[in-house]
Amino acid sequence: MFDATVFKEQFPLFKQPENRALVYLDNAATTQKPAVVIDAVADFYRTSNANAHRSSHRLARAATAVIEGARARARNFLGTSSAREIVFCRGATEALNLLASSLCQSLQAGDEIVLTAVEHHANLVPWQMMAARYGLVLRFVPGALGIPDFSCIDEVISDRTRVVSVTGASNALGLRSDLAAVRNAISGKEIVFVVDGAQLAAHDDIDVQALGCDFLACSAHKFYGPSGIGLLYGKLERLETLPPWQGGGEMIRSAGLYDADYAGPPHRFEPGTSSLAAIAGLGVAFTFLAQVDRQAMREHEQKLVEQMHKGLGQIEGVRLLTVPQNNLGIATFTPAGDWSAADLCLWLDQRDIAVRAGHHCAQPLHTLASVQTSVRASVAGYNSAQDIERFVAAVAEFVAEQE
Ligand code: PLP
Repeated sequence: MFDATVFKEQFPLFKQPENRALVYLDNAATTQKPAVVIDAVADFYRTSNANAHRSSHRLARAATAVIEGARARARNFLGTSSAREIVFCRGATEALNLLASSLCQSLQAGDEIVLTAVEHHANLVPWQMMAARYGLVLRFVPGALGIPDFSCIDEVISDRTRVVSVTGASNALGLRSDLAAVRNAISGKEIVFVVDGAQLAAHDDIDVQALGCDFLACSAHKFYGPSGIGLLYGKLERLETLPPWQGGGEMIRSAGLYDADYAGPPHRFEPGTSSLAAIAGLGVAFTFLAQVDRQAMREHEQKLVEQMHKGLGQIEGVRLLTVPQNNLGIATFTPAGDWSAADLCLWLDQRDIAVRAGHHCAQPLHTLASVQTSVRASVAGYNSAQDIERFVAAVAEFVAEQE
């Protein structure tokens, strides 16, 4: 059972007088925050603020309990076998940089990393940087216009493949990746399987053990949690052999003047003081989502995706780049006529409709589709059929005005 109106009631932003008519369709960039998450961030400072894992006084113990409580909930959210497999970091970008930097240290020149052309730059540029540093080779799952056809993944898997890192769903197209095909293609091989779960987490249930991945990255702000915090899941045996990325306090067992003995996971990967209040908010975001009928919410979002595609598909002058099938909530389109994505975005903003224009940090995909920029509308649980009606009608009106 899912009621979008009741769900939306929990988000204070929509109750501000200036936002009462807002149609927010930029959820793939970031979601709005429910009151419980906002309160958890403020309450941390009001009631439990101290540095975690360090001192033994009452407040420090409370702060540590909040952080480790959030880690335990992250474990449930992702179905990991141990809370030690959860590393807190700033977000998916930092998780993937940490991973690429640590993992690639043990690779040899000529080793291969398989990606897709739809990756967000966060799952592309860190690997490019490591490829340049260590002489690694990047290969891309084949597919028309860059859209990966995972049934052909074998064509790019070789005995030099060391890592396959793919998005769970494209942030530009909404398209879910066939992660089972990836898992099957690399099964039994010594290949590290990485999933960028940044878009997936808001919409789909994630079970890392069923996915069979070694690592998964996500950002709290994409699934109703605070910004500036996210996590990297890593299989314990992988994390145990992975060198740290950054050095600092709390990531060591002991330190001398010339060297240090590093702590075990997850603390080895969490140097310095984390964003503690944000972790408190993230912990509550997990609880918040656990109380939602996510299957019913997914069905609601699926209806909205279909409605967007049907409506936009009827507007001459709009070229859809997305399809509603296997799409977790995104409609992306470009001008078929003489108007610009940025102009439409501004025009919609004047009508209180928020969407994004640009390349959505997926520039190679746009280049392969011979498109400079596109308009992206992305849904969340609080969107309604009326939101989509207003959005589609406004696009139609704008396009008509351009003729
Ligand atoms: N990966 C995907 C698929 C994304 O959509 C995003 C953000 O849009 C990221 C990674 C990066 O997330 P963040 O900016 O929160 O680090």
